[in-house]
Amino acid sequence: MVSASIVSAPFPADVGIRVAFEEALAGYREGGLPIGAALLVRGEVIARGRNRRVQDGNPILHAEMSCFRNAGRLPASVYREATLYSTLSPCYMCSGAALLFGVPRMVVGESRTILAADDWLRSRGMDVTVADDPACYELLQRFIREQPAVWAEDIGEAGTQGKYDHSPGGAAG
Ligand SMILES: [Zn+2]
Repeated sequence: MVSASIVSAPFPADVGIRVAFEEALAGYREGGLPIGAALLVRGEVIARGRNRRVQDGNPILHAEMSCFRNAGRLPASVYREATLYSTLSPCYMCSGAALLFGVPRMVVGESRTILAADDWLRSRGMDVTVADDPACYELLQRFIREQPAVWAEDIGEAGTQGKYDHSPGGAAG
């Protein structure tokens, strides 16, 4: 498998996480942050995206935001049927977007590297499950080892301590 040289873990079996992981892998090959996302409706992939901070010089194009952008304009009825997948625990920006659009479910590839807004989303009524996928974890860990400065730039100083919340009272993770 083409990913074998980059990660030793097998591709995720679940289609949503697998597509998100493929996006993350594509981002890695572009020299970007290897974080991917997918939007599925009734098992069908309707959009996919990856973090484009490095590629586009755009700090708000996290994987989930990129995925929402690629999905284009969707009626509320579609968002209500959708599940958002991300290879990594979502930050508050992306979580806010998911809540704004009314996406009711999220599947997170892994929350070991960073545990961000999972519980906040749950507190807002979203169904959040964590796959704890080894490929998602391994790929991001590899990137963090190889490009620690780019990683620190994306997540800020707090992220280097396993947090992802820079608010005055923030203590996520
Ligand atoms: Zn985000």
